[in-house]
Amino acid sequence: MTRQGLLIVISGPSGAGKGTVCRALLEKCPELVLSVSKTTRQPRAGEEDGVNYFFVSREDFEDSIANGDFLEYAYVYGQYYGTPRSTVENLLNDGRDVILEIDTQGAMKVMEAFSAGIFIFLMPPSGEELRSRIINRGTESEESLNRRLSAAANEVSLAPKYDYIVVNDRVESARDKIAAIIQAEKLQVSRN
Ligand code: 5GP
Repeated sequence: MTRQGLLIVISGPSGAGKGTVCRALLEKCPELVLSVSKTTRQPRAGEEDGVNYFFVSREDFEDSIANGDFLEYAYVYGQYYGTPRSTVENLLNDGRDVILEIDTQGAMKVMEAFSAGIFIFLMPPSGEELRSRIINRGTESEESLNRRLSAAANEVSLAPKYDYIVVNDRVESARDKIAAIIQAEKLQVSRN
């Protein structure tokens, strides 16, 4: 019988560097699969449909909610984001280890529904660093920046609910710590 894959949730505030760390992690550990979310937000320059996200209309997203198609979904900064349930469940049943890169609201929902998941909170090294990362990304308006910064303070208060807290001071170091966590979790006697 195939071993069920691990569900690894990487969460934390916007600007903590989740996207960058997840990309680095997938390069180092190509056997991991990153779940591609659906969103109603517009693509940013360089983003591709089906790669970064499935970019859908609000109507399409709300139909998927009504059909129970999401493992979790959240309304983040005025847009919907959700994890397609069947894709993730099929991958886990095939024994693949799946990464969800999602916001803290979504992570809380997955914790309730899927206690076997591994929950990793990616912590920005400081408030100033968080601010400069969001500004340097150059994609947010002043209003969106302020919204993301005030949400970040609330999100950091949820960190103790997670299994692991990884400070993202350097991408390579955060990537290696997450890879080590996954490896240790796979070696746990109770998981074999
Ligand atoms: P962005 O617009 O910067 O790509 O993403 C905004 C936030 O939504 C980030 O914190 C990102 O991790 C989160 N996010 C992306 N996909 C999902 C998802 O499927 N579910 C939830 N709950 N959050 C998501």
